[in-house]
Parts: sequence; structure tokens; C-alpha cells
Amino acid sequence: MVTIQSQKLIDFVADIFAHAGSSEAEARRIGTYLVTANLTGHDSHGVIRVPVYMRWRNNGNIVPDRTVKLLVDTPSLAVIDGCWGYGQTVGPQAVAIGIEKCKAAGLAAITLRNSGHIGRIGDWAEMAAAEGLISIHFVNAAGSILVAPFGGVDRRLSTAPYCVGIPRAGKSPIVLDFATSLVAEGKVLVASRGGKKLPKGALISPEGELSEDPSQLYGAYEAEGARDHAKGQGAIRAFGDHKGSGLALVCELLGGALSGNGATSSPRKFSNGMFAVYLDPKRVDVDQFFDGEITRYVDYFKASKPIAGQGEVLVPGEPEARTRAERTKNGVPLPDETWAAIIATARDVGIGDERITRAVG
Ligand code: NAD
Repeated sequence: MVTIQSQKLIDFVADIFAHAGSSEAEARRIGTYLVTANLTGHDSHGVIRVPVYMRWRNNGNIVPDRTVKLLVDTPSLAVIDGCWGYGQTVGPQAVAIGIEKCKAAGLAAITLRNSGHIGRIGDWAEMAAAEGLISIHFVNAAGSILVAPFGGVDRRLSTAPYCVGIPRAGKSPIVLDFATSLVAEGKVLVASRGGKKLPKGALISPEGELSEDPSQLYGAYEAEGARDHAKGQGAIRAFGDHKGSGLALVCELLGGALSGNGATSSPRKFSNGMFAVYLDPKRVDVDQFFDGEITRYVDYFKASKPIAGQGEVLVPGEPEARTRAERTKNGVPLPDETWAAIIATARDVGIGDERITRAVG
């Protein structure tokens, strides 16, 4: 395990993408958003993604420094094409359009299609919350078929994340942000490498048996070898039985079908699609009731007696805020294997040993 200070890690990742055709500004954005995922504890969406982003960039699936195209543009609606740009570039451009329209109209909706990986969806809810806006995001990941619907064994869904952000006066926002699969694929990968085991019944075999065995997803694998989810016959299960499976379906239909991104149906090049709604609570809250009621209710919610031995009751967004504070202070821990893969990517784009040594020093 190596531990790297977050600013050094951002600088290093930015250097890698600047060597790979991105402007300084884009390279820094990619570094900042990926490291923010690590800082908030979502390592599966952090710098571990550097090699795969580079693979996508090298085979033309992702194009540096794109600007989104507006296909429909009304005072309260935008239909946006990400034009296969990095999600860290076209994602914030799309969200900024939603925010601007919402500030003017009180309510706005956007769709985004053909976007590179937009990472941790909580980033986009936090961006809107920083402007005082509520946001709701339905996302699909076309081309990434990993999840079986409730009652089925065949893969039909992506990990299709859902996210809601609610700003709070003087406090960090409530950010509910999760994949609709029982576990992220990154967690199956970690388990396959001897790391933390999967929760019971996270996967399902083609015969419909619940399983925690990563080979359901990857087929037979060597301890050190590559993992390819196309080789397994099983699937990850949707969370929450019929309810989570239904929410995943809605993410595919709104984030995928409505946006024009395409609902996940066959292996193809990866793209995130999103349907997002933005609402200005100040326009709704004519009695100036909302802020005080959030404070009262969150206090009441958190005062529920905790289950013995399980700490305290938290609201969504709190675990991320705590991990962010801890990792900002103490650095981002990275498994040796993750760091080795990032270094290999850095070398591939022409970064030398002296620069690599400085990243950890
Ligand atoms: P998760 O299972 O860790 O759940 C995270 C959510 O649960 C957060 O809102 C968090 O605040 C809340 N939470 C966690 N512990 C809590 C507790 N003890 N009490 C109260 N609330 C708690 O998340 P996940 O499903 O593994 O998803 C991880 C990330 O992956 C998310 O940021 C998601 O947006 C991202 N993702 C992205 C894509 C994509 O295609 N871009 C696809 C899937 C997932």
C-alpha cells in the first residue's frame, strides 16, 4: 500500500493526461475529480480508472477537450450531446447549463448523451448544491452490462447510478448517491484479487443460485491475471430486490433511452447518459420553512437510538464528508497494484522516473 497526499496525486494524474493530448485545464479537472472520488472513499471511481481512461483515449472512444452540443435549448430544458468527451469535461459543462437555466427559471431539466465516464455522480449534485439547488440524477452506463434484473439471471442492466442532492444552510449537502447494483464491479475485482469478500448473495449464477464467488463474473481466472467480465456467465444482482431493480430500470429508461444515449443492451463502447432535474428551493419555499425544517428533521432522524455496536445514525453524504476530512489530512491510500498500473500508464505517455519519484516523495 502507498499513501499519497491528495494534491500531489492530482498533480501527477494531471501530468499524465497533459502528456496524452489534454489541455492543462482538462488534465487538472480529470485529476481533481478522480482524486475527489478517492478522498470521499469511493476508490472504485478514483485514480484506479487512469489506465482505462487512457485505453479509451488511445482507441478513440474518448476525445480530449470536447465542448458539448446543445440539441434542444429552451429556457428550462437542454438536450445535450457530450460528443465523446471526457466525463470530467462534458459532465460539468452539462451540469453548468442545468444550473444556469434553473437559476433563471426556478426549475430545469437536462439530458446528456455520449459522455465519457462521469465518475462519482455525487460530484454533480455537490456542484448544484453549492449554488443552493436541489438536483436529481438518473444515470446509465451504456455498453457496460453487468447486472441481472430482479427475478432474472441474465445481465440486462448497467450499474446505473441514482443520485439526489439537497443543499443545507451552513452545512454540507445531503447527497444520496449509489449504484443500483448490490456492489460496484470494482468491489468484485477487489474480491477476486484476495481483498475484501463480497457480501452474501451479491452475485447470481446462470442457474439462479446466489453467490459471492467472483468467477461468476469473470469466469475461471489466475491470481495475477487480467479480469474480463465478458468471460463470466453470472451477474451482479440489483440492490433491494424488486425495488432496486425497478429503480435501475428507470435509470436505463431516463438516463439511457430518453437522453438518446441508449439503454444498455449489448456490449459496445462505453458512454454515460444522464437525465437530471434542478430545482431552486428558494422559489418553492415561500414561508422560508425549508432550511429550519431540514435542520429539525435531520437532528430527529439522527437521534434514533443506534443499533448496539454500530456507531451512530448518519445521513447520506456524511460518510463521504468524514472520509474526505481524514484523507485530506493523512493522504490517499492506494493498493500497490493500483499504483503500479498508474505508473505504467505514466511511463507509456513518456513520464520519466524522476517525476514518478516526486509523486510519492
Ligand atoms: P455506496 O454503496 O457506498 O453508497 C453510497 C451512498 O450511501 C452515499 O450517499 C453515502 O452517503 C450513503 N451511505 C453510505 N454509508 C452510509 C451510512 N452508514 N449511513 C447513511 N448513509 C450512508 O455507493 P456505491 O453504490 O458503491 O457507488 C459508489 C459510487 O459509484 C457513487 O458515487 C456512484 O455515483 C458511482 N457510480 C458511477 C457510475 C458511472 O457509470 N459513472 C456507475 C455506478 C456507480
